[in-house]
Amino acid sequence: MADMKVGFYGHVRQYHSLKPEIDKAISDVLESGAYVMGPQGKEFEKELAAYSGTRDAVGVNSGTDALALAFKALGLGPGDEIITVANTFFATAEAIWLIGATVVLVDHDPVTYNIDPSKIEAAITPRTRAIVPVHLYGQPAEMRAVAKIAKAHKLLVIEDNAQSIGARGDDFAIGELSDAVCLSFIIQKNLGCFGDGGAVATNRQEVADRIRILRNHGSPKRSHHSLGYNSRLDDLHAAVLRIKLRQIDKWNDRRRSIAAQYDKALADVNLKLPTAKAGYRHVYHLYVVESDDRDGLQAYLKGKGIIAQTHYPIAIHQQEGYPWGCKAVVPAPLPNTEAGVPRVLSLPMYPELTQDEVQYVIDTIKSWPGKG
Ligand SMILES: *Cc1c(COP(=O)(O)O)cnc(C)c1O
Repeated sequence: MADMKVGFYGHVRQYHSLKPEIDKAISDVLESGAYVMGPQGKEFEKELAAYSGTRDAVGVNSGTDALALAFKALGLGPGDEIITVANTFFATAEAIWLIGATVVLVDHDPVTYNIDPSKIEAAITPRTRAIVPVHLYGQPAEMRAVAKIAKAHKLLVIEDNAQSIGARGDDFAIGELSDAVCLSFIIQKNLGCFGDGGAVATNRQEVADRIRILRNHGSPKRSHHSLGYNSRLDDLHAAVLRIKLRQIDKWNDRRRSIAAQYDKALADVNLKLPTAKAGYRHVYHLYVVESDDRDGLQAYLKGKGIIAQTHYPIAIHQQEGYPWGCKAVVPAPLPNTEAGVPRVLSLPMYPELTQDEVQYVIDTIKSWPGKG
């Protein structure tokens, strides 16, 4: 087999696939003179709410801000404990620390990599106010179980959906069983703009209204009701996201097709492959395998021109040196998190991979001496 180069992201190819439409949308925004809080942002919010099946959606300038502003709008702050997982991108915990609240970590289910609902109750204290399930790698967390615990203990639920737009549970939609859903549109996510962007989708109108004030310096119009932030989604990004939102189901289907090919071809290789829960629509933001020799496999692939990455190389509670004194509370051991960290490897996974590239990744892994 001839050597190829397979990178980890396909966003430039994605731009080329829509170039005339995107270039026109960008130049239309530039000519309109409306760059911030203009019509593109408003239209995108309506379309995103419709796509999410939520009452409203509010654009903000990143997934991190989406989380922090949702927490603020729901009245969370210093003294409050918020339960989440340790196997997530740093920003999930960072947003909790940014509002002055306490991060409490529980372990995940080693099959789905999502929060293990059976571990949540032991972490609840009188100060617990919210649970933040992360829909990791493209698959929704078990929201029915999470929502049931939240209801029994009168807790808020904020979904970190930076990675799973377009995914579904077996009998629930993301956004249906929570107070707010937070999305990220940084380019490497399944729906990406050309820079930073994010949004909060919610069925609670008062939450959306508060985020609209918070993202704009605490000001609904001219007067300032409170301290806020400068965290709006620019119209240029919104115009691009409107075009891409129309493609997201098709792109996610292509990710699912590539995942099915990896699943089939790698079934007899000595790797733990990802598992989609029965009835769930997994959208494979990442295709994560586990190996006893993860570093060996990653280096072997690199030598063959294939970039694979680790998500996440350091768990939240293992991050070192918070000079500002933030530390996660870990009420019970996190054996699944700690066992997974040195083993996980994300293979190339994006809709723009060609069939030749998918086959090259498969053939290369099958030629790896550690394949077992
Ligand atoms: C990307 C990501 C975020 C943060 O989003 P940004 O837009 O980069 O601020 C938060 N949580 C998770 C799980 C993410 O993957």
